[in-house]
Amino acid sequence: MTETKFTPRVFSGIQPSGNLHLGNYLGALKRFVDMQGPEMETVYCMVDLHAITVWQDPKELAHSTRELCAGFIAAGIDPEQSILFNQSQVPEHAQLAWIFNCVARMGWMQRMTQWKDKAGKNQQNASLGLFAYPSLMAADILIYHATHVPVGEDQKQHLELTRDIAIKFNNDFGVNFFPVTEPVIEGAATRVMSLRDGTKKMSKSDPSDMSRINMTDDADAIAQKIRKAKTDPDALPSEIDGLEGRPDARNLINIYAALADQSVEQVLADVGGKQFGEFKPMLAELAVAKLSPISSEMARLMNDQAEIDRILARGAERARAIAEPILRQTYDIVGMVSSARG
Ligand code: ATP
Ligand code: MG
Repeated sequence: MTETKFTPRVFSGIQPSGNLHLGNYLGALKRFVDMQGPEMETVYCMVDLHAITVWQDPKELAHSTRELCAGFIAAGIDPEQSILFNQSQVPEHAQLAWIFNCVARMGWMQRMTQWKDKAGKNQQNASLGLFAYPSLMAADILIYHATHVPVGEDQKQHLELTRDIAIKFNNDFGVNFFPVTEPVIEGAATRVMSLRDGTKKMSKSDPSDMSRINMTDDADAIAQKIRKAKTDPDALPSEIDGLEGRPDARNLINIYAALADQSVEQVLADVGGKQFGEFKPMLAELAVAKLSPISSEMARLMNDQAEIDRILARGAERARAIAEPILRQTYDIVGMVSSARG
């Protein structure tokens, strides 16, 4: 087997399932912006096909997709430099996902913790799409031969599965066609936790709005949620060891560090010894300073939805220019006959 050299390319996505939150921003969006630059092509996607693996109201889905696009741009994604689009408009994602459904094994899917968490006790009543989610995610990445995927820590297992699918496809067909993708999980806030429970991930789908800071929250809402965030009675430690067994304290410190672009050590050196009553207003002030320019820019962009739709259409066109030939080559490798070609 000959070594193919893959051009470095970044892909990542966010579901337009509403409630874009601080965890999405620190764990994903902010990092997407950091990776944007002349040395790597960056492809970012609103994964609407993933969103419908659980029920979405059609009107809200359309609104959330546009709002998420506004969120990407407001956070610093330049739609000229990056390719920005919604997944359903590039049909090659779903087409490659079908091939991967035939490569991935039932046992692999059954082990996925996101499946177990989201399907809960009633797996029989979950959608087939929710079960197959990781195979579509592998297709999202591999249809661009993406080499680097920035995500939050919760997606690590799905990225390992993406690697397994690429490796099995390459082995089954005796090719070196799909790259073995590198997960990029970095920074102080790869797993932002719920403000109500420091052992649970902050999520769009958490029924409690107090559990998360939404990117559309105003200054008062942000301050109130931080003031009410769960904590313990002790003062903050000056060293990392002192956060052991204190998930809520650790979470607020991680959030502060990520927002301030500081290390956790630096933050603790400054705030060690303070009570939460003193630290929470500092955190609220920092969060408002960092987030309110983004939320006002999102609101401004949402005033011109036609422009958002034009950006998405242009992004889909550019994405298809990459995806279409990769799907065609995949079909050739698999042995599918096409009468359209000689
Ligand atoms: P849902 O609850 O509907 O799954 P979500 O909040 O998990 O929504 P996704 O759209 O599934 O959001 O994830 C988009 C990106 O945000 C992924 O890279 C994911 O790893 C990251 N992410 C999600 N939640 C967090 C979090 N709490 N901390 C850090 N990163 C996160
Ligand atoms: Mg998720």
